[in-house]
Amino acid sequence: MKNKSSSAWSVAKSEEHYGFKRWGSGHISVDDGGFVQVQPLADGRGIRVLDVISEAVGMGLKAPLVIRFQDLLRHRVVQINACFAKAIKEESYKGSYRGVFPIKVNQLREVVDEIVSAGKDFNYGLEAGSKPELMIALAMHEGTQRLIICNGYKDHDYIRLALLGRKLGKKIILVVEQLAEVDDIIKIAQEVGVKPMIGFRAKLLTRGEGKWAMSSGDNAKFGLNTAEILFACEKLREAKLQSCLRLVHFHIGSQVPNIITIKNAVIEATRFYCQLDQMGFPMGYLDVGGGLGIDYDGSRTNFESSMNYSMEEYARDVVSNIRDICTSSGVAVPDIVSESGRAIVAPHSLLVVEVFERINKHESLGQQYQPKVKHKVVTDLEVMLKNKGKLGRLERFHDALQKKEESFSLFNLGYLDLENRAAAESIYWQICEQIAQEGRDSGYQPEELHDLNKLLADQYVCNFSVFQSLLDHWALKQLFPVAPLHRLKEKPTVNATLADITCDSDGKISSFIDLQDTKDYITLHPLNGKPYYLGVFLTGAYQDIMGDLHNLFGRVNEVHVFLENDEPNGFYIEEALSGSRIADVLEGVQYQQEELCRKMKAQIDAATRKDIVKPREGVRLLELYESQMLNKTYLNIESKNGRKKKA
Ligand SMILES: *Cc1c(COP(=O)(O)O)cnc(C)c1O
Repeated sequence: MKNKSSSAWSVAKSEEHYGFKRWGSGHISVDDGGFVQVQPLADGRGIRVLDVISEAVGMGLKAPLVIRFQDLLRHRVVQINACFAKAIKEESYKGSYRGVFPIKVNQLREVVDEIVSAGKDFNYGLEAGSKPELMIALAMHEGTQRLIICNGYKDHDYIRLALLGRKLGKKIILVVEQLAEVDDIIKIAQEVGVKPMIGFRAKLLTRGEGKWAMSSGDNAKFGLNTAEILFACEKLREAKLQSCLRLVHFHIGSQVPNIITIKNAVIEATRFYCQLDQMGFPMGYLDVGGGLGIDYDGSRTNFESSMNYSMEEYARDVVSNIRDICTSSGVAVPDIVSESGRAIVAPHSLLVVEVFERINKHESLGQQYQPKVKHKVVTDLEVMLKNKGKLGRLERFHDALQKKEESFSLFNLGYLDLENRAAAESIYWQICEQIAQEGRDSGYQPEELHDLNKLLADQYVCNFSVFQSLLDHWALKQLFPVAPLHRLKEKPTVNATLADITCDSDGKISSFIDLQDTKDYITLHPLNGKPYYLGVFLTGAYQDIMGDLHNLFGRVNEVHVFLENDEPNGFYIEEALSGSRIADVLEGVQYQQEELCRKMKAQIDAATRKDIVKPREGVRLLELYESQMLNKTYLNIESKNGRKKKA
């Protein structure tokens, strides 16, 4: 490919091209050497991601690799609390902020630990949506001031567990999602002899927006409608438990891109709150749920991968709207609870993948197949390729397309042989490449020609599984920013989509962030025989737990990184988690390592007896099989490319 202006390329151009500043919230930059740096505290202290990779590789943990920046996690907890504190001060709000972290967004112990520790000074609590999560919340929660919010469907054991927490003096609130839960809570509280704290989840009519909009509205799975709230109130009165109703909760869905939606939902929920207060319930907390977004594409718009507001604006709007409605209703303002998960954890981790192969549909360009006897359709195409100056690009494209289709019909009817079909195809692609290249040099492109870039894009094959590591990209087409982690002084020249190593045509990334809408390919550097690493950023929310074992590709390696001034590279790896071994994933589907090895041995022994293999060879074959059990599930790229290990 032509590379006229590579000398004019710069680190600044790479920053602009991949948008690090736009979606990185001040945490991602490129250093003078062309390496991506993460600044966990956004204070100028940066960690070169490639240094972390080198250290991990030295520990035997190759890509695919998840890197968690624990300080960044801390930073986000401090940030959301600071935003609410600032809003509360500026709006002269009388209540306080009592955030909780929803465990379902990232259950990993080290993540929850870090958040609990970072939230100490802010009485930052936890939210659980299931029994296992409540088990985590109860044990990891510290003190009696931080909240535990209990959402999700509840059986008797769930309620008993929550009341156990009440016995220990914890502020644990059971949020009623279904009318029947009220009866259960009343009954079990009487049995156990503790006073529960109860909240109602209101089914708001204000609808969420974007990919996760189904959490509210008439058909939502969760929450009480208006009549049910009134019935629930009566039940509490009858049981003499009025004093237990403390909270109104709503959750209109995750990643709400538009601040107007949030304002409307807050207004509607505050009306519920005020009415319940006026009916004589003690109340005290208003829980605005999750939904605070992440600007994955950095466009600052209400596009589904973005958000048109900042965390600061979110806090201010929540605080001021609650205050306004409460004031106009003559009701004392509540303490504000929010359950932001995505916004807290998404930025702290990134997935590192290694590109190991380039698949070029038109690799045969230049060494085009020469049929012994050329069919007319082939010579016609050759003429088009030669006379490129004669017609406009669009017209040439249409002519070539017509000839390609003609050749296809001829082939199906038996009038074109394989040699001529091969020649027709490769000349067609050559013409397309020619047209696309002229287009790249000239700016504006009609739609059809624009799509050519996508058709002509190469595939970069990366050692990872979309199903294990980026499930939301596969399931919901969620976009994550992707960028090379090094070589950013060089001009990227290859348009590519990314393919994973699963045997599934869906196992790919072919939709990328862009300021306008989305892009069908990403422009990367040509492979040069050395490791080429890409980062998939903002993957700390939801992806870790939702990943599955498609093709039995298991959990990836993981390192947890902390800033450290005294270390040569400014960081240290505190924890290294080795990814799944082949034996681990096999066991998950009920194959015992010993049994499989025994069966292999029996077959090899039988083959040896029949003299199909020699005894010495048989031993080696069994060793090969057995030793693979302890290997990772992903490709061993060094063995694949015959690359020499560094000493
Ligand atoms: C999933 C969920 C959250 C977290 O939402 P985010 O958008 O990730 O902040 C909060 N509350 C409830 C009830 C949830 O189900």
